[in-house]
Amino acid sequence: MIGHHHAELLKRYAIEPKKSLGQNFLVNDVILGNISEFIDIESRHVIEVGPGYGALTERLISANPASLTLVEYDPRMVAILQDRESKHEFDFAGTLNIIEQDVLQFDPKESSLLIANIPYYITSPILFRFLYEVALVPTEMLILMQKEVADKITKQKGYQNSYLSLALEHGCDILEKRFEVAASNFVPAPKVDSAVVYFRTKSEQTSPEKTKSFLKLISQAFSQPRKKVVSNLANGGVGAKEDLEAMLLEFGIRADARAETINLPDWYRIFDRLCR
Ligand code: SAM
Repeated sequence: MIGHHHAELLKRYAIEPKKSLGQNFLVNDVILGNISEFIDIESRHVIEVGPGYGALTERLISANPASLTLVEYDPRMVAILQDRESKHEFDFAGTLNIIEQDVLQFDPKESSLLIANIPYYITSPILFRFLYEVALVPTEMLILMQKEVADKITKQKGYQNSYLSLALEHGCDILEKRFEVAASNFVPAPKVDSAVVYFRTKSEQTSPEKTKSFLKLISQAFSQPRKKVVSNLANGGVGAKEDLEAMLLEFGIRADARAETINLPDWYRIFDRLCR
């Protein structure tokens, strides 16, 4: 059911959602409240990615952040956000910045909390950018994404390790699926359900060079996920198959293991042995 307030805003601005920008607006006030209450926002620097017409923005503002930076790609949405700001609908004691930009080009100016209801097709690029490419990595991230991707990266519903789950775990102390959001809570309703995932990033990040070679090793190990990990690594020129098998056995891992059965601490041991 679409909340009255959202119906009014969609009508006021004659909003026509653009499919190519993944515009599915969250219109359930209970869920918007859950998202904004879930995390401590007061006095923090908050970045909201893809604010659209500002449904979640209002909630974030009422929780009194020190600053709120909105990064939105669609100039039509930016104009709406600016109009709403001029009508005092976004008033609060902190600073509001409205930035028209592709989030994949955006660099945070402070250590921040990042909140995003983003188009599904840029979930992974956004995560990789904010974990491994920007100078000021957000301390926490709360991201609404496709439910299946949330299950995959948090290894629920039978999913094991994958390149994506390990690559994200590498940069985070906490990575948890918090709650699911049914497709019917969006306008227009997407084909699949969503889930909110919480990330707390590591305060000490690994150096970018080391992270790059670590991700390269994992990506090689998963190049053919159904094959044995030793075959994938040997094919990638990482070492001779027999030596790799001996190393796995030494680490208490089966010689015929597949990459998905090996957890992050063991990947670090493998990396330290092979890539020093
Ligand atoms: N947060 C709003 C809500 O919950 O109603 C809108 C969410 S909608 C799923 C995604 C938003 O991200 C849209 O407003 C869209 O224009 C914006 N967007 C799409 N691609 C983007 C990009 N590369 N950078 C920044 N914003 C983007």
